[in-house]
Amino acid sequence: VTTIGVLALQGDVREHVAALESAGAHAVPVRRRSELESVDGLVLPGGESTTIDKLLRVFELREPLRAAIADGLPVYGSCAGMILLADRITGGIDGQQTLGGLDVTVRRNAFGRQVDSFEADLAVEGLEAPLRSVFIRAPWVDDVGPGVEVLARIPERATDGTGLGEAAGKIVAVRSGRLLATAFHPEVTGDTRVHALFVRLVTASRRS
Ligand code: GLN
Repeated sequence: VTTIGVLALQGDVREHVAALESAGAHAVPVRRRSELESVDGLVLPGGESTTIDKLLRVFELREPLRAAIADGLPVYGSCAGMILLADRITGGIDGQQTLGGLDVTVRRNAFGRQVDSFEADLAVEGLEAPLRSVFIRAPWVDDVGPGVEVLARIPERATDGTGLGEAAGKIVAVRSGRLLATAFHPEVTGDTRVHALFVRLVTASRRS
């Protein structure tokens, strides 16, 4: 069985554990270096990227995790997790650092007040039917480097019909090698197709 960790310093850890288990993986919380070393892949959950950044340093996980990513550990980051994976960040607070690895620039809290939180049905590369996606004070991706594949963009309208204005067309899901990131939260909808995609990525990496 493929074992996938969920970084459990802050954020919606339980939801990711449940989604990974329904997608057929064995999921474990990760708070220590030894736990990090025993997983085949890792999820960085949604939450607050500034807090997770601070706790990564307090728990002395920042450098081991950066090394693991550089070494090819498959990682999926959702929302705050997407921010943590990005090489560059716009709108971070003073001193906020990311782990990096993903050659993108993310804009933190990008959607602004009127659409702070909303749901939209997204066409996602690799998934057949549209994916109901929940955005909670989400980032978007302003630009991607050459090795990064865009998997999804914001549509014209939210699920409730509200126009999404200048947010339409913004990049909200990407993949680069063994790194996957979404600005939204597939762990809260009961649709586990994104987690299944990540489980397949982790399983394929184990074999190679
Ligand atoms: N706004 C949060 C941050 O900057 C992310 C929100 C989320 O993960 N739902 O980290």
